[in-house]
Amino acid sequence: TQYVYFFGAGKADGNAKMKELLGGKGANLAEMTAIGLPVPAGFTITTEVCTEYYKNNQQYPAPLAADVEANLARVEALMGKKFGDAKNPLLVSVRSGARASMPGMMDTILNLGLNDTTVQGIIAQSGDERFAYDAYRRFVQMYSDVVMGMHKDELEHLLERKKESRGAHLDTELSASDWKELVAEFKAKIKATLGVDFPEDPKEQLWGAIGAVFGSWMNQRAITYRKLNNIPAEWGTAVNVQSMVFGNMGDDCATGVAFTRDPSTGENYFYGEYLVNAQGEDVVAGIRTPQPINRAKYKPGDLPSMEEVLPECYEQLVQIRDILEHHYKDMQDIEFTIEKGILYMLQCRSGKRTAKAAIKIAVDMVAEGLIDEKTAVLRVAPSQLDQLLHPSLDPKAEKKVIAKGLPASPGAAAGEVVFTADEAESAAKLGHKVILVRVETSPEDIHGMHAAQGILTARGGMTSHAAVVARGMGKCCVAGCGDIKVDYHAGQFVAKDGTVIKKGDVITLDGSTGEVMKGSVPMVAAGVGGDFATVMAWVDKFRRMKVRANADTPHDAKTARDFGAEGIGLCRTEHMFFEADRIAAVREMILSADLEGRKKALAKILPMQKGDFKGLFREMKGLPVTIRLLDPPLHEFLPQEDKDIDALSATMGVSAQTLKHKVEFLHEFNPMLGHRGCRLGVTFPEIYDMQVQAIMEAACELVKDEGFQIVPEIMIPLVAVTKELSIMRANAVAVCEDVQKRYGVKVDYLIGTMIELPRAAITADSIATEADFFSFGTNDLTQTTFGLSRDDAGKFLPFYVENGILEDDPFVTLDQNGVGALVRMGCEKGRLTRPNIKLGICGEHGGDPASVIFCDSVGLDYVSCSPFRVPIARLAAAHATL
Ligand code: ADP
Ligand code: MG
Ligand code: MG
Repeated sequence: TQYVYFFGAGKADGNAKMKELLGGKGANLAEMTAIGLPVPAGFTITTEVCTEYYKNNQQYPAPLAADVEANLARVEALMGKKFGDAKNPLLVSVRSGARASMPGMMDTILNLGLNDTTVQGIIAQSGDERFAYDAYRRFVQMYSDVVMGMHKDELEHLLERKKESRGAHLDTELSASDWKELVAEFKAKIKATLGVDFPEDPKEQLWGAIGAVFGSWMNQRAITYRKLNNIPAEWGTAVNVQSMVFGNMGDDCATGVAFTRDPSTGENYFYGEYLVNAQGEDVVAGIRTPQPINRAKYKPGDLPSMEEVLPECYEQLVQIRDILEHHYKDMQDIEFTIEKGILYMLQCRSGKRTAKAAIKIAVDMVAEGLIDEKTAVLRVAPSQLDQLLHPSLDPKAEKKVIAKGLPASPGAAAGEVVFTADEAESAAKLGHKVILVRVETSPEDIHGMHAAQGILTARGGMTSHAAVVARGMGKCCVAGCGDIKVDYHAGQFVAKDGTVIKKGDVITLDGSTGEVMKGSVPMVAAGVGGDFATVMAWVDKFRRMKVRANADTPHDAKTARDFGAEGIGLCRTEHMFFEADRIAAVREMILSADLEGRKKALAKILPMQKGDFKGLFREMKGLPVTIRLLDPPLHEFLPQEDKDIDALSATMGVSAQTLKHKVEFLHEFNPMLGHRGCRLGVTFPEIYDMQVQAIMEAACELVKDEGFQIVPEIMIPLVAVTKELSIMRANAVAVCEDVQKRYGVKVDYLIGTMIELPRAAITADSIATEADFFSFGTNDLTQTTFGLSRDDAGKFLPFYVENGILEDDPFVTLDQNGVGALVRMGCEKGRLTRPNIKLGICGEHGGDPASVIFCDSVGLDYVSCSPFRVPIARLAAAHATL
């Protein structure tokens, strides 16, 4: 096995396709080297080493040491320097790199190889003592933090004291001798705190750093990030060892980060930030405010751009941008450093982007001939679309802007201010909407960023941690808002205009403009025209499954159609029963002592139900509409308060006492498994008869009066045994035929059932004898397969997911091995009996991308989901076929 892969001077052992083995960073460093871009030479230790390391009780494979030596020698030969040499020392960076990018999760060590001897070599080589000691102290700070476990603040504190004693405000005001003294002070502090010497031997430093990268794969931050992003622990990380280039050797040096297109809007211009005379993380750390690389979006007050300050390097970078986009055929996120006027590439990867940008870039790249429509569709992640379908601020609303920062991640959000990630998490658990306000964020804050509606930071640029992570999460973020002064201690921030916002006060963020507003500003639904429509049209060309919506009202149905629904997969009729002006009649029906009484009450409900269905049919003209007959247990409709019972007793002419007894009698211990679904229809057939009559009369009247056909699909819920369905079917058919005869009109209709009990799935071949269609009700099917009440699961299910007992919440993502196996069985058995049986799903899983892809694999004809998720389901259905 090859454990180490070399790259340098136009040649590389690896390439971009080897991400699994070399990690994303290593694979792309190899690729960039091979296509002739200027990349400092180095080598990558593979992810396999990491996996073996953890398998073998934290021991490296035997050949690794020799392999590292050999590759280090190659780098030395290329660079004409020697690692640890007193006169001409090679310095390296040690960089982690997992398969999937994990921004900020793993720590990089720069300037490795420095000690009291080699620093003299660097001074001699660079002729710059200040630079050499600055590099040295940075190394000691990073190494002691990442490898030795020294708390960052302790050394930072010494640095602050040094600045104070020199009357300096900025690091740049410190002199060579200051830095030199600090190195010694740092080392003394490390010795005093940890009881060990800072390692002087460069080889020991190198292996310490390599070990720390592998070790960091299992640190809490990395584990949390993997869990949130479904990255398996078995993947491991690679380690990159690369010769150093310096962006901090003077004013002809710089370091920067750029995107080949705007990651927030997708606009096709070169977007980036850089800092003159700076090293490594300075740009993203938010210590100094970075400058734009060009004048594409010049705003008054912007500092001079790289285009003006370092024009030749900028020109070269523009060419590289072009080469990379044509090579990768995707928007790239790049990191570069300029040493003495010479440009070096340190990283590239496909850039994270907002949903809006993903769509614009996909559409533009098709127009530019870079990619085809299929690739364009695959470039947009279904889960990401949610962002676009979310609200933005109502442009007509009044707003009091108290501060303005960078528009780091679009969308709008309002909530109560909290200042720590833990507060954000606990408040969100109690159902509060919160905005997380921080000076800047770090990986320790990720759980709080997840819990918050939006994020506001006082420091940091568009490529700061907060901005990058928020865009990845599709969460609104305003970053680098220098207009606010955050005071954690007092639990408040003060805006430039003097407004004081305390913890718990409500603010609104607009991540598209960077504005921060006091109070809650009204919002409007998202616009979905333009490029969005273009992509969705491609989506519809490629997908096999249809997408319907779960909608109960004409209003929901209209929303669903606007989002491209091709029918209604689930209309719940119980909502129609709950309305204020109907509930009395419904209660009267339930509490009637006999059939006569029930029929009298049902006769009052019939015209209202008929009106509902007509509205729905009109909205869905020409498209299928599945209507589920009454499902919930009757007691849910019952009056609980005395005044309601008294009112009812008056209209029904029955004593309140009798009614109370009846209500008690209807109480159930376990209603989810009680007298509900078709069990109601079997025991009180007149209820379902009334509903079927309303459906059929509505359809007939539309044919007669408004001249259009609709094919109602009548759905019987909670069937466990075939006999239930055969009885319900016979009743429904009788009513349908009778209504058609009365109206003298012919209406096609289907009668089918939900498959939402394990027994129904297991006996689906028999049930199919009575069903024209199946709709998998995966909410109930999940409850009954797991024997798990969704209403009570909140107490323990999160623990299960956090501890990996369950991979996902089964009510969010379909449990493919268990519940999914029943769905598959139901499909196969149903088709055995009735090859043309229509198959769909109407549980909430119908709008979950992973579940939609599963539905495609078992051959469902359609998925049905909530109206707002229809575009997500359409896109996921297309992904399933591509
Ligand atoms: P991350 O994965 O957190 O982005 P990197 O390994 O990319 O960490 O390192 C962070 C930064 O350190 C890089 O963007 C670059 O500016 C700097 N850096 C890393 N390696 C080198 C190097 N060999 N020479 C100069 N700068 C480097
Ligand atoms: Mg990087
Ligand atoms: Mg159900």
